[in-house]
Amino acid sequence: MEYVSTRDKSCKVSAAFAIANGIAPDGGLYCPMSFPALTEQDWQTLAKMDYKGRSAQILAKYLTDFSAEELADYAARAYADDKFGGRDTAPVVPLSAGRHMLELWHGPTCAFKDMALQMLPHLLTASLRKTGETRTACILVATSGDTGKAALDGFHDVKGTKIMVYYPVDGVSPMQKLQMVTQEGKNVEVIAIRGNFDDAQSAVKRIFTDQKTRAELDRDGMMLSSANSINWGRLAPQIAYYVSAYCDMVKAGAIKMGDKINICVPTGNFGNILAAYIAKQMGLPVNKLICASNRNNVLTDFFQKGGSYDKNRAFYTTTSPSMDILISSNLERLLFFASDYNDKLTSELMDKLAQNGSYQIPQDVFEKIERDFDAGCCDDGQAAQTIRALWENERYLCDTHTAVAVHVYEDYRARTGDATPAVIASTASPFKFCRPVIEALGGMLVRDDVTQLAALSELTGMPAPAPLAVLADKIPRFDRVVDKADILSTVSLLKDL
Ligand SMILES: *Cc1c(COP(=O)(O)O)cnc(C)c1O
Repeated sequence: MEYVSTRDKSCKVSAAFAIANGIAPDGGLYCPMSFPALTEQDWQTLAKMDYKGRSAQILAKYLTDFSAEELADYAARAYADDKFGGRDTAPVVPLSAGRHMLELWHGPTCAFKDMALQMLPHLLTASLRKTGETRTACILVATSGDTGKAALDGFHDVKGTKIMVYYPVDGVSPMQKLQMVTQEGKNVEVIAIRGNFDDAQSAVKRIFTDQKTRAELDRDGMMLSSANSINWGRLAPQIAYYVSAYCDMVKAGAIKMGDKINICVPTGNFGNILAAYIAKQMGLPVNKLICASNRNNVLTDFFQKGGSYDKNRAFYTTTSPSMDILISSNLERLLFFASDYNDKLTSELMDKLAQNGSYQIPQDVFEKIERDFDAGCCDDGQAAQTIRALWENERYLCDTHTAVAVHVYEDYRARTGDATPAVIASTASPFKFCRPVIEALGGMLVRDDVTQLAALSELTGMPAPAPLAVLADKIPRFDRVVDKADILSTVSLLKDL
């Protein structure tokens, strides 16, 4: 299968090339030119497989320059039982009223980013090999909190790679920060940026397109790559869990094969929900994809106001920091797909976004998008109420991001009366965001405890996940803080890793 840039489809590359390079030279995102269909035979095979098998099977449809054996081997290692607490990789937990929580946070860093970032190092190192690349791949990551740690965990001490993570200094939870600054490994660097996530993401994109920086790195035997969801190798592994959830729901008798489901996803960079959209294009029976935002509701407005995107608005820090984003990168891919791969249009819209911070998509493209998507948003108070209600009514403990999705889903259902069984993506362990979860439950915070793990355990009677519990004993290694204007200068640090 060939991949093209959203901004110029005349330049065709292999999956390995797209993954190795992360972003196209024109600043566009690599996309497949078709969606391979899931056949009757595929569904029968998938139904019988475990998560590792399902993942390899879905990836094989897109990564046609990888062998089935390679992909099976990567999936076995990425989703090894010891990395996922010895339980299902992506379990579906039924709640009342046809709601099914798809728990994506049983991996080593306790957020859904592990689902892709445990796989990406395997895909990336193989892609370097397949494309004959001999330079060291330097992975630059902008993070709103969870991607940073998941990428560090995936890439630390992986041969042929170095990784540098940028996070907004005041924009991540105490736990997220502790996870990142205590990261072990020789090839890692973690830097705080004075600014928000969009500043960090724009800065990283700037490094990627700075020819002088690229040339200097090249001279030193290094190349740039990305572990953000702009990389197709990040997105592709995320398709499998929607298919897997469907198989599990059929198995559990919640639906019959062929029945439609709704999928609601707490959204920031639009990667996770785009993976669900792709699964739908492949034949997953989906009625509506429901895009859930926090108070940073630029996407809600986009879907509710006829495809008008406008990031010129206040930026809020919320209790769901991984969704505090005003430039949702992967929307670019949706526009490309929904406009029948119109690279000229996509590139014009992205120019407008860069220049004015806003754009309006054509009516016919919006009508196509509107058929697949619904959207809503939720403020911190509503998220807190949702956490409390789920705990009190169903003894189900969820994190702040997941609560946004649950609230938006309930709104959608009340507004439309659509009772199609729903999958709600549960994207992080509640123990990653102890403070707002404890406050939502009306519990007491413990003074001078950064993580508040013990307090949440005590309050709920649930144990903290092991990877979070061990952090208290680790020594912070990184304390560098830089202005966003100085980000280019940090590239020189890569040399010494
Ligand atoms: C990254 C993240 C999101 C948003 O996912 P996108 O793919 O960026 O839309 C939601 N919840 C959590 C916990 C996350 O880490």
